[in-house]
Amino acid sequence: MSFDADVIVIGAGGGGAVAAKELGEKGIKVLVLEAGPWYGNTKWPDPNGDKGAVSSSNYEDLSIEVLKQNFTDLENDMNDFITGKLRWGPANRNVGIWPRSYNGEGLSWQNSGVGGSTLHYFGNSPRAFPQVVDNVWPISYSELVPYYEKVERELPVTPAATTAKEELFYYGAKKKGWTLLEGKDITTPGYRPQPNAIFPVNPLLNEPSFDIQTNRSAGCTLRGHCINGCHIGPTIDTVAKRSTFASYIPKALRTGNVTVRPNTFVTKVLTEEGEAEGIHAVGVLYRDTWNGETGELRAKVVVMSAGSVETPRLWLNSGLPENPWVGKGMVNHYFDCLSGIFEEETLMENIGVSDVKPFVGQNAAARFDYPGLGVIQTFGTSPGLYASMLYATSDKGYQNFNPPGPDALWDMEGMVAGEKLKEFMREYPRTMSVALFVDDDVNQENGISLDMEVKDENGYIPVIHYKPSASDIERRERLAVIAAEILRAAGAKHVVRANWPSVIMIHIMSTMRIGLVTDTNCEALQVKGLYIADNSVLYNSLGGPNPTLTNQAMATRTADKIVEKYFQA
Ligand SMILES: Cc1cc2nc3c(=O)[nH]c(=O)nc-3n(C[C@H](O)[C@H](O)[C@H](O)COP(=O)(O)OP(=O)(O)OC[C@H]3O[C@@H](n4cnc5c(N)ncnc54)[C@H](O)[C@@H]3O)c2cc1C
Ligand code: SF4
Repeated sequence: MSFDADVIVIGAGGGGAVAAKELGEKGIKVLVLEAGPWYGNTKWPDPNGDKGAVSSSNYEDLSIEVLKQNFTDLENDMNDFITGKLRWGPANRNVGIWPRSYNGEGLSWQNSGVGGSTLHYFGNSPRAFPQVVDNVWPISYSELVPYYEKVERELPVTPAATTAKEELFYYGAKKKGWTLLEGKDITTPGYRPQPNAIFPVNPLLNEPSFDIQTNRSAGCTLRGHCINGCHIGPTIDTVAKRSTFASYIPKALRTGNVTVRPNTFVTKVLTEEGEAEGIHAVGVLYRDTWNGETGELRAKVVVMSAGSVETPRLWLNSGLPENPWVGKGMVNHYFDCLSGIFEEETLMENIGVSDVKPFVGQNAAARFDYPGLGVIQTFGTSPGLYASMLYATSDKGYQNFNPPGPDALWDMEGMVAGEKLKEFMREYPRTMSVALFVDDDVNQENGISLDMEVKDENGYIPVIHYKPSASDIERRERLAVIAAEILRAAGAKHVVRANWPSVIMIHIMSTMRIGLVTDTNCEALQVKGLYIADNSVLYNSLGGPNPTLTNQAMATRTADKIVEKYFQA
């Protein structure tokens, strides 16, 4: 049989880009098929307006100038869920987004494009808590450590820079008696700077002549636009935020073995059945998202890295063998947010400055880890996103109809609107917010199925179902109390709790679990030569830590396992 590549990787996001680079470095010919556009490549100078070329396999095609034309700092330009550059849908902005069904009100915050959802992400790269891996996962924590170390070197991961909002968080946490944590393997509660996939601060930043627009030196400029997709750097591979389009994809292209084809949606995984090997993957069917043309591509091994919603959706739409864990057991950290509003005098007294502008610095640069409960991290974005996410997103309805209980440490809960919202946004420069990530339980009823009545151009659309368990709710309450105590200890005069809906999906994981859908090498139990390398293969919620580093460590390991089994000779 003739192949179009040794390995086809479906999706160029958090995990797929890592698998592609690792395989390419081992001499394997890889074809990456990505449903969305490619920003920062000369072959697609207007990625949302024009079809451009078919594929690129040359590092020289990458251009920081093209990226700077593609990305802006404007919140709506980048984040609008319908028209923004970082939306979930095809490159062509005359065509709508790809739909989903939810139980209740919901949002699945995913990006299509080379880089996937890491185009948005904050770069936070903590490891899982060891105690939720050892004797729980089918592999041990110590087996993951060398892969963590490798990804931490590749990205690289460094401690996040500290600005006033982190100083204030540390001040409050210390005052409450919590410990500053050292090291990366966290087993006890405490606070620490984020391990971040963001380059350290540009050393020239304090020079009077430093000009962000004309600057061509490497390093973060602390402008706080991370959620808009960073374009700060002299070249694509030195962009400050290490989304995979700036980290692993350039490295993959440099191997000379990797071709990336954007605007290509895989609609089916093709299999054949042989006497010796049973059902095995042989390739894929794809659909060009610009002109709708379809085609078939073949490879010895196929890697599904389409993300925790699309990987199970593709499995189901492909008619692959039934498995009660396909799409099931989804976790998402059952988020919540709290904001603390401070007086100028308090800030001067406690940290020696008059404001803590949420907009300045990396978006989420300080964290508090509590194995057994989850995570609290600082959370600062630009004003529009801040107002909508912190004050206008709640399951509770409007705050004035739902006063918090008499013992609550927050004085408001729910949506803030009208004059109150204006008043709070005037206080924006003196507001510090935190996000909560719960160590949520795996529940087989949560996850992805197909809506058999609704199709888009790529097949039946996914239904996303997520309901927290009673113990998830309890853990979130305990984290909210700790967060409010830290904000109060730091001197907050008001604390507002958002009480987010449960179906805000940002850390979607664990829908194709290792050991249940795949073997311990991440090869599908029922389809040989079909591997999974994205968040979906993670066994649980990691205890609360952000998922991408663990996804990337696993993808690095999976690339090794693929080569050992299929390409050793
Ligand atoms: C605002 C925001 C902030 C975040 N911050 C952090 C953070 O700080 N730290 C952290 O760890 N995580 C963070 N995350 C989550 C992080 O982005 C994800 O964990 C990570 O990107 C998931 O990687 P993945 O490989 O599973 O999927 P993705 O990165 O979503 O990649 C999947 C890719 O597959 C493509 N695709 C899908 N279906 C198909 C198909 N059928 N054919 C071809 N291509 C397909 C998609 O277009 C996409 O590019 C954040 C997410 C958001 C939205
Ligand atoms: S704060 Fe740093 S990482 Fe974030 S957008 Fe600015 S330069 Fe990029």
